[in-house]
Amino acid sequence: MNATDPVPVLLVDDLPANLLALEALLEGENVTILKAGSGAEALELLLANDVALALLDVQMPEIDGFELAELMRGAERTRHVPIVFVTAGASDALRRFRGYEAGAVDFIAKPIEPDILRSKARVFFDLYRQRRQIAAQRDELAAAAAALRQADANKDRFLAVLAHELRNPVAALMSGLDLLGRPRAADQAEEIRARMDRMLFHLSRMVEDLLDVSRVSEGKVSLRTAPIELATVVASAVEGSRHGIEAAGHRLTIDLPDVPIVLDADHTRLAQVLANLLNNAAKYTPEGGNIALSARVAGNTLELRVADDGLGIPPEKQPHVFDMFMQVEDHRRNAQGGLGIGLALVRQLVELHGGTIGVESAGIGQGCTFTVTLPLPLQPAGPGEQPGRS
Ligand code: ADP
Repeated sequence: MNATDPVPVLLVDDLPANLLALEALLEGENVTILKAGSGAEALELLLANDVALALLDVQMPEIDGFELAELMRGAERTRHVPIVFVTAGASDALRRFRGYEAGAVDFIAKPIEPDILRSKARVFFDLYRQRRQIAAQRDELAAAAAALRQADANKDRFLAVLAHELRNPVAALMSGLDLLGRPRAADQAEEIRARMDRMLFHLSRMVEDLLDVSRVSEGKVSLRTAPIELATVVASAVEGSRHGIEAAGHRLTIDLPDVPIVLDADHTRLAQVLANLLNNAAKYTPEGGNIALSARVAGNTLELRVADDGLGIPPEKQPHVFDMFMQVEDHRRNAQGGLGIGLALVRQLVELHGGTIGVESAGIGQGCTFTVTLPLPLQPAGPGEQPGRS
């Protein structure tokens, strides 16, 4: 609740004219007023509403104000609602004792002095606001603590995956070296070197990604932006992901605008973004799937989409796929040595370009679509167009 939100207050009186008078007295107090004409009606309202203060007329038929207060004190939900009894005079005063027993907070006598009512009420409104703010801060802290715990768990899992992923190529390199050192290794030397080469490539890519992530997080990556043509970036990205796409027998379609699109961007980094999305589409789509890369201009932005008809992402995981070290549990066997940092890096690089990235998926097995939006540089007015007019 914001300090400026209206505070809910309950007025209970069997006489409608009194309710209206009380309401008028609280006008301008930034309150939301709930009115009840009987104790039963008040209890019903209290079931559905949290209130900062209840102003109870003492003399009411059926359930009187004191009885209502007792009922409120008896229920967990309403036990702590502050109560101000509106009393009619001396006979009521005799019953004050009962009121205190019921946990009453205060009394105000009829005829009501407006200033007294307002100053009493304000104390409770302030208390209510403070309580709400503390509750909101507590919720924020709890959410922050949960996010930290999740980040910590992700990091632990990442370290385990990293260790596992490093062990394989390191073991392969060691056994390659061992084999090369053996007599009669010459026959197989070429094959062994090729395997070692693949392992080294895998290792160095992993290390590069890790370094990239930490460099970007520390703000040490600066883009080398220049006017570049979208088609050339797409060509580089496709080149960088061709192997994965072809190895899995996927069909890739590319749909770009007919006119050349010029971006103010870092060619290598943008190609890295698209290649990463294409590689993911290839990894997380069962063999023989369809991957579509498309681009369209929407106002002053370029929308780039990479869609696949693969494993999809469950809705609850979608907001988190761009978090560091985040991997969907059931996808891990498709990750091909991925460490859950690719999309975190992609998001950082897109944001460095002043863009955004999001994902949509109808759920498991339904494929998914990643959309990158990038700002387009202001295009010079073409012939026949007049600047400043649309
Ligand atoms: P990884 O190295 O695990 O591929 P990423 O950061 O690139 O890490 O992706 C994070 C997670 O998001 C992946 O582990 C996977 O679970 C999910 N994911 C990414 N792209 C796709 C996709 N095209 N289809 C389904 N899931 C995906």
